[in-house]
Amino acid sequence: MDSLLSDAAAGELLAAFGREAVKEELRRAIADGSTESSEILSRGRQSLSTRFAPSLRRVINGTGVLLHTNLGRAPLSDAARREIEVVAAGYSSLEYDAPSGERGRRQDHVRDLARDVFGCEDALAVNNNASAVFLALSALARGRRVLISRGELVAIGGSFQVPAILEASGARLAEVGTTNRTTIDDYRRGLTPDVALLLTVHPSNYEIRGFTATAPPAEIAALAREAKIPWLHDQGTGSVVDLAEFGVGGEPTVAGCLAEGATLVTFSGDKLLGGPQAGIVAGAAEAMSRLAEHPVARVVRPDKLTFAALHATLAAWKTGRWRDLPIYRAAAAPLDALERRGESIRSRAAASELEVAVVAALALFGGGTSPEKRFASRALALTHRRLSADALAQRLRLFDPPVAGRVEDDRVLLDLRSIAPEEDAIVESALASISAEA
Ligand SMILES: *Cc1c(COP(=O)(O)O)cnc(C)c1O
Repeated sequence: MDSLLSDAAAGELLAAFGREAVKEELRRAIADGSTESSEILSRGRQSLSTRFAPSLRRVINGTGVLLHTNLGRAPLSDAARREIEVVAAGYSSLEYDAPSGERGRRQDHVRDLARDVFGCEDALAVNNNASAVFLALSALARGRRVLISRGELVAIGGSFQVPAILEASGARLAEVGTTNRTTIDDYRRGLTPDVALLLTVHPSNYEIRGFTATAPPAEIAALAREAKIPWLHDQGTGSVVDLAEFGVGGEPTVAGCLAEGATLVTFSGDKLLGGPQAGIVAGAAEAMSRLAEHPVARVVRPDKLTFAALHATLAAWKTGRWRDLPIYRAAAAPLDALERRGESIRSRAAASELEVAVVAALALFGGGTSPEKRFASRALALTHRRLSADALAQRLRLFDPPVAGRVEDDRVLLDLRSIAPEEDAIVESALASISAEA
């Protein structure tokens, strides 16, 4: 080992990975049967670079889902990345008022912009929307009951279960109505003296159809006012504008929910807002101060990088530059532009064993916007003479960086709407590498 470590080639490894890790990997190479020192060192180098490569990697999103939770939801704007970079590299004014030298408050970095963008009295940022709901329930309903429709006791994306979060907050359920129908009279009948809060949840990823009824917002607002309890609406998506121009109109906006009378509205920062992972509570100042003063607010407070990115994202909304946010750029790309990109990739990538076509496809925002509302897109449809569609999809995922698509009708579809134009060259290289493998 000592003679191995004194080799010039080992010096480089020692500098990059440290003595302990280098020795571990060289021992492993020896145990695996390598005998020549050059071979031991080269195998050691290989396993060290794999072992210490970044675990979180870039992925090319060809799924057609613009807000894909498994792929990190919204890509950040240039401005958000610049603000993160500055704050990450040095000390910052996170809780520091530079002119006075006094302590500042981290929420002040986004509060005024959030008030303007969402049209609310006050706003509070936390780590994600689940935290926002948890904080609101803890502060407003712990030890008491929460009135909620049976139709809204939902699981969103598998890991956000309203009943579980409710229970963890120390609040108790007061379920009313049925899964498909809940009327204002159902809510009224459920209003016992120990009810502290009325909770409604936006049906993010499901739709109940047929014989259904939900209470109109105006009636819910009136009932909550009459009972003198707050109405908390978990809006989820954080949409600021009507998305009719993208073909997905009718999603309620945060400001719309507040205008309809919700006391507090909670939503994510990394869905339709197009920012970093965060949760935001927007609404009435009085209820908000109870949230801000609750110990859970400290437990779920965001870090400086989140505040930096959130500030930049809210500034984009306030100044009308939101169309430059990556998800809206992707959503707005005209079909003929997608088609041109597809044709250009196709003309370069098609090889004897790999067949590439540009086909019509349907993309969606995802991330809690109605799954029913899809918009037109174009995709590369790939088939391979010897590989099944599943095997082909796997080859694409094994590329560096991985290219994620979906398998449909024995073809692999790579939706061009969720792939940025700057990433087309990577898709071309991935296809070329598969053709070359033969
Ligand atoms: C997405 C969503 C959540 C969960 O939000 P996270 O930011 O992932 O914690 C909760 N409620 C609704 C309605 C949602 O759409």
